Amino acid sequence: MREELLQSAGLTRCLYLALECPCEEDVRVAVNMDEPLGESYPCPVCQKACGFTILGVGGTKRPLPFWKASYKFFSSGEATALYWRLMKADKAARNAKEMVL
Ligand SMILES: [Zn+2]
Repeated sequence: MREELLQSAGLTRCLYLALECPCEEDVRVAVNMDEPLGESYPCPVCQKACGFTILGVGGTKRPLPFWKASYKFFSSGEATALYWRLMKADKAARNAKEMVL
């Protein structure tokens, strides 16, 4: 996505990372692309420095960095319920922000 397009849409460029975390979480982080990225990233859950995989580049209206953890050891039913709770919370947050704008 071109930077001017992102800016005109009010979006900040970000990089999505999947942390290779030693704790039990599967953690995804979005970081500001214009800030230097080291060889490790501190896990927001357990605070340990983790290696990471870059998932992709995107744009966001949310303040950076932000993160999400999905729980590996939930049953599929619990995982689905958690997923919908997160989606609902995320959507409510987005709507609130859009109303302010
Ligand atoms: Zn961790």
